[in-house]
Parts: sequence; structure tokens; C-alpha cells
Amino acid sequence: MSTQRIAFIGLGNMGGPMALNLRKAGHEVAAFDLSAEACQRHADQGLRIAPSAAAAVEGAQVVITMLPASRHVESLFLPQGDAPGLLAALPAGTLVIDSSTIAPASARKVADAATARGLAFLDAPVSGGTAGAAAGTLTFMIGGDAATVERATPVLKQMGANLFHCGDAGAGQATKLCNNMLLAVLMIGTSEALALGNALGLDTKVLSEVMRRSSGGNWALEKYNPMPGVMEAAPASRGYTGGFGTDLMLKDLGLALEAALGANAAVPLGGLARQLYAAHSKAGHGGEDFSSILKLLTGEG
Ligand code: NAD
Repeated sequence: MSTQRIAFIGLGNMGGPMALNLRKAGHEVAAFDLSAEACQRHADQGLRIAPSAAAAVEGAQVVITMLPASRHVESLFLPQGDAPGLLAALPAGTLVIDSSTIAPASARKVADAATARGLAFLDAPVSGGTAGAAAGTLTFMIGGDAATVERATPVLKQMGANLFHCGDAGAGQATKLCNNMLLAVLMIGTSEALALGNALGLDTKVLSEVMRRSSGGNWALEKYNPMPGVMEAAPASRGYTGGFGTDLMLKDLGLALEAALGANAAVPLGGLARQLYAAHSKAGHGGEDFSSILKLLTGEG
């Protein structure tokens, strides 16, 4: 594909490797993060760092954001007091892709403001974790119009292996919230079964393998076993470091519940999962990988 001038804002655990993949693919990337440390780390890896978000988007054909939560995305793009917001600085026709996980309502708010300015906007949150971000194998769940999805596809393919057009603006975020709510429930259920097996004196490695190949089989048993020592490559076997933080899962469960409230949808297990993750975070595990929820069930913490 032709070289694009891309502004990338948010160089965290996910955004950093995504921006590096775009540069490796030959695009001209200008990046920015509020954290000087993140900027320096990525400058050391050859990324061009701009002095501000406004400077990064100068001359950009594509703007990509990978920020923590709704408030960061809204305050970057939309007017705040006298400050006009970043959308106002972009020429009509610029493609804007937000890959942060945020509320569907926030995504629609930014999409509406972008459309009113003649910009092309997509919400495109991802799944696949930091390993997927580094390998360029993320799954993108995309909301927006079909023509914009087609235009964005060559760029998204440099960072992801699976692209799903889920519907209009906000549908990518809604899809992501459904997936992560299910993931939380699966992780808690898997942890509960392993904690019970442990209490019954079973070998949890054998139990894990039996359940993986039986009717209890699921993604946590397949790729992300929460019991330390069962799966070498899982965060549980490296002290629950790296991976997907408890507090980020807690944020996503909050977003799922908020969306469910707006739609009058019943999500009893999602609600319980949020309570359990909130208690786990309060007990001091917010920064650990979300599979550490096992500790709540074994009584370790
Ligand atoms: P992170 O906290 O590591 O990175 C976020 C970065 O955004 C930080 O470096 C922060 O300094 C920067 N930032 C915040 N506001 C900014 C602003 N106004 N301008 C410029 N930079 C700003 O988070 P992450 O793990 O990279 O996650 C990013 C998003 O992706 C989140 O919404 C998260 O839920 C989602 N996500 C994460 C994972 C994962 O495994 N970590 C997986 C899928 C989706």
C-alpha cells in the first residue's frame, strides 16, 4: 500500500507496539504521549516524537488514538472550555481511528462531532493483548460506515490479523464490551473450578487438561490458565505481571454495565463479575493481570 502520514497518540502498553508496527511497514509516523518516559522509550526505538498532539497531527492523513478511557478520548478530540479540541485542527477528509476501549456513547459523541466537520471516523477497539499488539495480530472490532472501513483497512492490517465491521458508529465498542464481559465471567468461573479442585486435593494441572478437553473447555483454559505453574507462558506463571490489568478489566465491566442499563438488558453475571473485580482491586491487585482473580477464590488475598 502507499505510504501514509500517520499521527499516533498514546504510546502505552498497546499503542507503543502498534505505532512501531506502522513505522516498520514504511509509514511516516509522528507520535505523541503525555508521558515523557513513554516518548523517550519510543524515540529510542526510532519513532519520531512530536512535541504535542496538535503538532503530531499536522499534515497527517490518518490519526490514530490508543488512550486509557472515555474521558481521555473526549477531552483530546472535543472542545474543553476555550480550547477547541483536536478535531477542529484537522482538515476535512482526514481519517480518524480511535482504538481505545471506551463507552459506545462516547464513541458516538466523537463520531458525530467528527462527521459534522467532514472527517471520517471509526471506533476500532482491539483484542489480542500486548502480545498481539507486538506481533501485529490484533483483532479489530470496527464501528462506522463501510466506505471508511474500506479506506482504513490497509492501515489496520499492518497492526491486526482479523478485522470485523460490526455496524455503525459505536458498534465496535459495544462488541468489545460484550466480549470482555464474557471473558471476565469465564475467567472467574475457571478460577472457581480450579480453586475447588485444589481444595479437593486434585492436581490442578491434570484437572485443567481434563476440563480443557471436556465440556468446561474455554479460552482461559486454552491460553491463559490462572493457576501459577500450569501454563508456562501465562501471566499467572510470572507473578501475574504484563498482560491485561485488573483495573482495565474493571473499567470494561463498568462500561458493559452502563451500556446494559441504557439498553435495559439483563447482565446478572456481568454485574457479579464487576463486584468481584472491584473487591479484588480494593484488596491491592489492581495492577496485576486480571487472571489473579484466582487469589480471591483461593483466599490468598
Ligand atoms: P496504558 O495505560 O499502558 O497506555 C495509555 C497511554 O495513553 C499512556 O502512555 C498515557 O500516558 C497516554 N495518554 C493518556 N492521555 C493522553 C493524552 N491526552 N494524550 C497523549 N497520551 C495520553 O494502556 P494500554 O494497556 O495501552 O491500553 C490502551 C487502551 O487499550 C485501553 O482503553 C485498554 O482498555 C485497551 N486494551 C488494552 C489491552 C491490554 O492488554 N493492555 C488489550 C485490549 C485493549
